[in-house]
Amino acid sequence: MPYDAIVIGSGHNGLVAAAYLARAGRSVCVLERSDVIGGATISEHPWPGWTVSTASYVCSLLHPKIIADLDLTSHGYDAYRKPAAAFTPLLDGRSLLLTRDAAANAAEIAIFSQRDVAGFRSLETERERLGALIFEALDDDEPSFESFDRSAQDTMLGSAADFVRRYVQTPVLQAESVNDGLIGTYAGPESPGTAYVLAHHNAGRAFGVQGAWGFVRGGMGAVSAAIASAARAAGAEIRCGAGVSRVLVRSGRVVGVALEDGAEVSAPIVLSNADPKTTFLRLTPRAELDEAFVRRVEDWSCTGAALKINLALGELPNFTCRPGLNAQPHHSATLHVADSIEYLQTAYEDARAGSVSRAPLIEGYMQSPTDASIAPHGKQLLSIFAQYFPYDRDDGPWTTAQAEGAADVIVASLARFAPNLPNAIEARQILTPLDLERRFGLSGGHIFHGELLPGQIFEHRFSTRTPLRGLYLCGSGTHPGGCVTGAPGLRASRAVLADLAVRS
Ligand SMILES: Cc1cc2nc3c(=O)[nH]c(=O)nc-3n(C[C@H](O)[C@H](O)[C@H](O)COP(=O)(O)OP(=O)(O)OC[C@H]3O[C@@H](n4cnc5c(N)ncnc54)[C@H](O)[C@@H]3O)c2cc1C
Repeated sequence: MPYDAIVIGSGHNGLVAAAYLARAGRSVCVLERSDVIGGATISEHPWPGWTVSTASYVCSLLHPKIIADLDLTSHGYDAYRKPAAAFTPLLDGRSLLLTRDAAANAAEIAIFSQRDVAGFRSLETERERLGALIFEALDDDEPSFESFDRSAQDTMLGSAADFVRRYVQTPVLQAESVNDGLIGTYAGPESPGTAYVLAHHNAGRAFGVQGAWGFVRGGMGAVSAAIASAARAAGAEIRCGAGVSRVLVRSGRVVGVALEDGAEVSAPIVLSNADPKTTFLRLTPRAELDEAFVRRVEDWSCTGAALKINLALGELPNFTCRPGLNAQPHHSATLHVADSIEYLQTAYEDARAGSVSRAPLIEGYMQSPTDASIAPHGKQLLSIFAQYFPYDRDDGPWTTAQAEGAADVIVASLARFAPNLPNAIEARQILTPLDLERRFGLSGGHIFHGELLPGQIFEHRFSTRTPLRGLYLCGSGTHPGGCVTGAPGLRASRAVLADLAVRS
């Protein structure tokens, strides 16, 4: 019996699409190549007693509409707001800690510059305004960047560095503030369009607060598990270890998929949660796509430069600037090491010059001080997202020795501020962009299914409806792009249901 629809991939977006289709009474089957659901939104147990958000690790953009529609809370979704925002230790013994307390932030910034106190407030206001504009458009069926006011457009087309410099002058505050413009992006703080990336990372409205980020109890896999539970409750079927080898087409329209083991599954509608390069260059018969479209997919900018490390620690990092082995607010803040925009620009230029960053961008998170369920008693988990470690090294594909070397550089960089760190490490997991491609099917190791820079955002991202009748994209290659938003899946389900309504 054919299904009404097949979803290729159980990333959180594929699951969202399946859940909405099933709730609308359609028979849906999700086919996932991996043995586990969730794609890049996953919790794993690499070491006994530890629960690790292997890839994505913090949550902000998951659309409140999806949380409500699918009643994710009753399916186990439980997020809480990160207690502190950001922390940068400095080598001179000072540090910058930004929390949720505006008065404390003002006092902290005033140590560096009285003028920047007001400047930072203005920066926050504008960041929230831009984030809110994107939030309102997250699930637009026909996204239009050009519908934004001229000043918002001009700002977001510019660099994160220019945006931040407009408001604050303290180098470490500038560095902390541009960081969101670089995450997941193979571009530097001076690169045009990184202000958009910064705004995108402030587009979430978790806990009803614009730009707030939080942790999910049990790690990010709990997001996928909750969506999968909602999808199953509505009747969707989810099969793991079922890699799709190609989309089947008859007389110009989709009739199902072939699996890697040779079996075929029939449906007149196929939604692909795989990224655009995988979907159109590997899974779709070439003859079904015209040359210009194929060229567009080939030209899609999708080279990842992010490396993820998860560290099992025997104790918390003891920062020289804020000593102590007990959990303190800075341990729960996003950890950075860059002391200036120049530091980050050099990290980027190093990689572009043909290798990797010698002094990398580092973003660290510790969920264990506020969620005892993810590490054994008395132990801590430090997750690190670092750039720039590009997928396409000049000296050939990533080797294990190079991955270990990169991790050593990152740990050494952090040890300048927390000398106990190297000896506190009990185990480590390293994922280079090549590992991200192999583990999660992310082409080029790109965490967003392709750069989120102007030229690849809003109306310039791939459309949900593809040139092949019956084939839809439901992953991050479509608007609004990467991050755990669920919006591409929601938009795809709406497009499918609208098309089915026209047909019947
Ligand atoms: C290291 C890292 C850190 C990140 N950090 C964060 C973060 O903290 N917060 C945040 O919001 N976002 C973060 N992101 C980005 C975010 O995780 C992704 O943008 C998002 O999870 C993508 O979801 P998706 O459903 O669109 O696709 P994916 O999660 O990529 O899912 C696609 C699915 O399709 C499957 N698939 C592919 N090909 C086939 C096939 N042929 N047959 C069957 N199945 C197939 C894959 O196995 C996968 O399960 C991070 C990503 C990475 C990699």
